[in-house]
Amino acid sequence: MTRLRRRDPALLGFPLPQPEPPADCEKCQELARQRAAAKEAGDLSAVIDCNILIRSHHAIPWREA
Ligand SMILES: [Zn+2]
Repeated sequence: MTRLRRRDPALLGFPLPQPEPPADCEKCQELARQRAAAKEAGDLSAVIDCNILIRSHHAIPWREA
């Protein structure tokens, strides 16, 4: 199952892990900049969007097999 979790208002404010963008990936660095700007603006849903995009860009395995 690779489906992304739907955005749920109940999840806003939940301490989700912040994916670290790889230093050699320009796209993820840009996403990280957008995420920082969204965080400053208090736009949590945009922060979550950036986190999802960074994660899905490299399919980081969050769960150990
Ligand atoms: Zn990337």
